Amino acid sequence: MMKHQLSLDYTLSPGWMQPWVDGLMKGEAIARVCDACGSKSFAPQRVCKCGCCDGDWATLSGTATVVRQTDGTDGHFAMARFDGADNDVVVRLEGFKSPQTKGRLTAPAGAIPQMILTPLEGGIT
Ligand SMILES: [Zn+2]
Repeated sequence: MMKHQLSLDYTLSPGWMQPWVDGLMKGEAIARVCDACGSKSFAPQRVCKCGCCDGDWATLSGTATVVRQTDGTDGHFAMARFDGADNDVVVRLEGFKSPQTKGRLTAPAGAIPQMILTPLEGGIT
């Protein structure tokens, strides 16, 4: 085994997910709404579970409930369900203390879009 350091400069385009990325940067939960069945996905799904590829965007409240949580050496993460969404999503948890399970999407401090959940006051379900 040999160690080798690799450095890359690259640019990623959000493409069709631009509204979702713009929302993340402002701490707003922008969900994809399926044209055929009305299912709301956050994070957005390009192809809905019903098979439809067409949809529009809707702003959710931004609040979510932690479904499962894990703690790692690089932070705390959870599977969470945003209020109004029909799917779960992986988020980074910041400032959560057991037994808090309710949080709000929070804008990242830097220029990279991230799914960050911070606790709601009280935040216990
Ligand atoms: Zn659908």
